[in-house]
Amino acid sequence: MLDNSALRALPSVDQTLNIPVIVEAVGRFGRRAVTTAVRNVLDERRQDIRDGGSLPAIALITASVLDRLQGEERSNLRPLFNLTGTVLHTNLGRAILAEAAISAAVDAMREAAALEFDLDTGRRGERDDHLRALLCELTGAEDATVVNNNAAAVLIALNTLGAGREAIVSRGELIEIGGAFRMPDIMARAGVTLVEVGTTNRTHAKDYRAALRAGTGLILKVHPSNYRIEGFTAEVGGRDLAALAREAGVPLLNDLGSGTLVDLSIYDLAKEPTVRETVAEGADLVTFSGDKLLGGPQAGFIVGRKDLVAAINRNPMKRALRVDKIRIAALAATLKLYRDPDRLADRLPTLRLLARKEPEIAAVARRLQPLVAALLGPTRSVEVCACRSQIGSGALPIDTLPSAGLRLRAADGHALNRLAADLRALPRPVVGHIKDDAIVFDLRCLEDEPAFLQSLAALPPNGMA
Ligand SMILES: *Cc1c(COP(=O)(O)O)cnc(C)c1O
Repeated sequence: MLDNSALRALPSVDQTLNIPVIVEAVGRFGRRAVTTAVRNVLDERRQDIRDGGSLPAIALITASVLDRLQGEERSNLRPLFNLTGTVLHTNLGRAILAEAAISAAVDAMREAAALEFDLDTGRRGERDDHLRALLCELTGAEDATVVNNNAAAVLIALNTLGAGREAIVSRGELIEIGGAFRMPDIMARAGVTLVEVGTTNRTHAKDYRAALRAGTGLILKVHPSNYRIEGFTAEVGGRDLAALAREAGVPLLNDLGSGTLVDLSIYDLAKEPTVRETVAEGADLVTFSGDKLLGGPQAGFIVGRKDLVAAINRNPMKRALRVDKIRIAALAATLKLYRDPDRLADRLPTLRLLARKEPEIAAVARRLQPLVAALLGPTRSVEVCACRSQIGSGALPIDTLPSAGLRLRAADGHALNRLAADLRALPRPVVGHIKDDAIVFDLRCLEDEPAFLQSLAALPPNGMA
């Protein structure tokens, strides 16, 4: 039954705004935010009374308003501890940047910068000028440009080379990257007709040859970064495909996906084709990401033949896909680190974390185990465990890295899910992964142990709601 007296007794927005704690909140959160929060809380309470609830105490109303304001102020994009074991986690923002890149980006944000202005001549410059020479030096390519991400790089390269014509691709390379990036869809949007050749597991040079005709715009090779076909397989290597393309007079576009600038085997990681090798094999254009193995901000690079890069720069799509000064600053600073390979793994977090050895991580786990156990209390157990990290973002999907971590168990599944939720709700959330009725923290990406312990200390007391 509707309690009209309770509805009438609910304070108005104006009355609530005059309660001292709410007046104080205006100083902290701003008038508009507080008014909106008050209105929403009162609306909810009114609905609650209509649904049969009783009149809430004033203190409860003001507490809800403050809760709501605090929640709104805390960004969902706040820093967190990535203990998932996936170093380049797309959902957690992929690469974390080198200090040099961070300070370059901050400088670019704070002041005007010569983004498209040549300081030598005083004339107009190009934003690509900040990266072109570095990219050419590091990849051996003739020319280079940069766009929003690698998906955009593939899109504009396909559109420039093949709009209204055909692109020949092996059936074994028609990949889906995730997040709805499917090669056939991108081709359609680029205005390119897909010509599939070969079979899922085997494609030969003769398959490409048979598909070549007057309407062929390009041959596309895609590095199948996120899966691997094993067993009875055949593909045409980059060098042979380049020779075939040259013979036919069509360009070869090689989408490397992650694309690394260094030989990862130096760091005991599995070998990925480097951009330099791919250029040297004769690909006319090579595309790769900025925020995967390269360890920079989101970006897509296109390197290769000068005439083709020039054609890409003339494509009106380029304007829609360009990157801003903040990212250009961070990219240039990241690329510069590659000029000093000896110190690269110290300075570039992505490589530093990937190169971290299991014994070092296991030592961290042993050191933290008793401290974490003490913070989690007696009803939850914490043990050191072995685990395997992944590079992530589709790079080297099969080659996991030996790592170590902590395995957390709780009384039952409900308590475990509650713990996972509490960890996510921390001021600096801790994100692990749930496996075999336990939360596993892979400690490969944990570098600031004191901050981690401090974060855990803010967990709600054990057993409380
Ligand atoms: C990751 C990837 C892409 C997409 O790159 P983004 O930088 O995520 O846009 C395209 N092609 C391949 C082969 C990839 O691995």
